[in-house]
Amino acid sequence: MFIGKTALITGSTSGIGLGIARTLAAQGAHIVLNGFGERAAIDRLRAELAEAHGVQVRHDGADMARPEAIEDMMGRALAEFGSIDILVNNAGIQHVAPVDEFPVDKWYAILAINLSAAFHTVRLALPAMKRKGFGRIVNIASAHALVASKYKSAYVTAKHGIAGFTKAVALEVAEAGITVNAVCPGYVLTPLVEQQIPDTAKARGITQQEVIRDVLLAAQPTKRFVTVEQVAALTAFLCAEDAASITGAVLPIEGGWTAQ
Ligand code: NAD
Repeated sequence: MFIGKTALITGSTSGIGLGIARTLAAQGAHIVLNGFGERAAIDRLRAELAEAHGVQVRHDGADMARPEAIEDMMGRALAEFGSIDILVNNAGIQHVAPVDEFPVDKWYAILAINLSAAFHTVRLALPAMKRKGFGRIVNIASAHALVASKYKSAYVTAKHGIAGFTKAVALEVAEAGITVNAVCPGYVLTPLVEQQIPDTAKARGITQQEVIRDVLLAAQPTKRFVTVEQVAALTAFLCAEDAASITGAVLPIEGGWTAQ
């Protein structure tokens, strides 16, 4: 249980991040949601989580592509809660294109949101974690932190980068009661994946059904999508006391994909 603890989850208005926020709130953590979305829908979500679990739920719409927006978000959360005990770096975007046609602005956006944003949240969260002698940082990486796929050069680069960042920071804070781990999901059917199906179909010259069967689930020996709830449960375990000896780990949850 995380009663009295505060969790900030980037990119938590949708998909995996929202699943993690729900799971941590259900275990008693106060929640700072982050991410884009319709104001009214986000307000409903905040009220629903707060009422269901008796926790405080805030939303900060900071753009993870902008370091100064991240600084403002972290400053507001630290001022309100004193420390961020659990930091989940989850916000991420994808773009699928051959490298010689890859839009330059998309390359920089993917590196900023999927990689550099975690550098900024971590550097800003650590001082209060160190003062408390407790912290849990979970970086939502990907199977693409461990292996590559065609047409995802920026994403694969960012995700391999976050795996290295995870290990480096874990070593730096190992004696401070702070753990830093990366979780590497295979395909989870969230808006991020649904949106890339048409682009992948175009890049490979196949139908969208063929993308699901022959590209996405072809990589996963279980032939099933990983679920949001499974990723959230693993993340919550890494945040628990029982996981105090797990740090610097880059943990696959991908139906056997990277065992091949
Ligand atoms: P999603 O598109 O459903 O959700 C992404 C979230 O990030 C949303 O809340 C969105 O508002 C937010 N976001 C996007 N850009 C942002 C920005 N600039 N600033 C702040 N918030 C921003 O995606 P998802 O599938 O839930 O992905 C979440 C994470 O999991 C990503 O890092 C992704 O790479 C990773 N992942 C996803 C899969 C998968 O199959 N879905 C697999 C492996 C890893």
